[in-house]
Amino acid sequence: MATEAELRQLLADACRIMFRYGLTDYMGHPSVRLPGTDRVLIKPRHSLRIRSQDRIAPEDMVIIDLEGNLIEGRDGPPSERFIHTCIYRARPDVQSVVHTHQPMAVIMGVAGAPIQPILHTQSRLVERPVPIWPCAKLVTDNELGSQLAATLGDHSVAHLQGHGIVSVAPTIQEATVGAIHLEQLAEANYKVLAIGRQPRIIPSDEIGQNRDSGVGVDVRWAYYAERAGIERE
Ligand SMILES: [Zn+2]
Repeated sequence: MATEAELRQLLADACRIMFRYGLTDYMGHPSVRLPGTDRVLIKPRHSLRIRSQDRIAPEDMVIIDLEGNLIEGRDGPPSERFIHTCIYRARPDVQSVVHTHQPMAVIMGVAGAPIQPILHTQSRLVERPVPIWPCAKLVTDNELGSQLAATLGDHSVAHLQGHGIVSVAPTIQEATVGAIHLEQLAEANYKVLAIGRQPRIIPSDEIGQNRDSGVGVDVRWAYYAERAGIERE
């Protein structure tokens, strides 16, 4: 089981990776459950001190409870912490939640254009249509968070239409790579539509063959971390 120190480092790494890949700027936030507790470790809200996400340190992360109350931390939690707390309450299987305003996925969500499974490595994420929550409000209370969690259902990703996305998973690494893969799929779908063509939808048996190829999320995370300038071990 990961320690709190390890999870703080992974969250800081996730912030840096998503920033370097253009998924976030000063907005957006990843979080993770603290194992065996009803507490959540989350990136603090942006402020004059907490700015670019490639500079947030492990010790900057703050702890909240599942009601969204600040338990520990120098800075406050994001106003949209209810994205995280409401999904954790609805989904015991989810250990990490990532919220971004990543541009290509947002555009596809705004247009209501489906992000289809058209790239072999990434397609598992969108074998089922990505749910769309048709609301651009900031998710600043339990009612809005519960609506989003209901829209997400048992999916791994969902649109907050006109706003952003969420990616959820059993680990920080998977939730982060999920957001990256969703952005790559959104961009590919957009480009196929932009040249006036219809994409070939990859059938599930071909997606399944790729899924069983043996390349785990740890390998993908290591690649993205290295490209983001994170050198460890
Ligand atoms: Zn947001």
